[in-house]
Amino acid sequence: MKTVGLIGGMSWESTALYYKLLNQAISKKCGVLHSAKIVLHSVDFQEIEIMQRENRWQEAGEKLAEIAAALERSGVDCILLCTNTMHKVASQIEAAINVPFLHLADATADTIVARRETRVGLLGTSFTMEEDFYCERLRQRGIEVLVPGAELRAEINRIIFDELCRGKIVDSSRETYLCAIGLLREQSAQSVVLGCTEVGMLVSEEQSSLPLIDTTVIHVDAAVEFALADL
Ligand code: GLU
Repeated sequence: MKTVGLIGGMSWESTALYYKLLNQAISKKCGVLHSAKIVLHSVDFQEIEIMQRENRWQEAGEKLAEIAAALERSGVDCILLCTNTMHKVASQIEAAINVPFLHLADATADTIVARRETRVGLLGTSFTMEEDFYCERLRQRGIEVLVPGAELRAEINRIIFDELCRGKIVDSSRETYLCAIGLLREQSAQSVVLGCTEVGMLVSEEQSSLPLIDTTVIHVDAAVEFALADL
């Protein structure tokens, strides 16, 4: 089994899910007492969140690239960045390492293409919903990406940083997400990408009017496939 390198802590609430889901998947596939081989570097999210707000992306990219290089030196076989938003600096990370970087937007696009869907909704931070670094990667694969209107996007973003990244699950916020999903359905989205690694903590497919593509789950699946390939 190959060793998976995780750059996590953004937030630790979702990194804990990565850790659990990776181990559960390996245990399910390999049986008995098998568990995932993981090296985790978990950052102080406050430092990163300030860089996001202050538009210091270059600096954030340098920091994450340094972490990725250190993970590589520690012997990992691939690297995952456990946040959609920070994929804004993915190219800096990729340039710093030789092992494969399992890009979250690529894993998401692969899933959408495999489902033969071409029109999806996207919920995530404002950075992810409004900028090109994520959506463009999906569009390049022939996928049309719909996002909610400005007011709803702002509230979706607030819920991520004020609640989900702090481990708070609030019923009225779930309603906001379900309402956004309903509106995306009216625009004929075929499914909705939970393009933020904490959102699966708040909404489930049973509650949703559209099928959900949870990026945390997809990213873990890609890592498990990589870890067990050629065995
Ligand atoms: N985990 C989140 C994401 O997937 C948001 C936290 C962050 O800004 O990195 O985008």
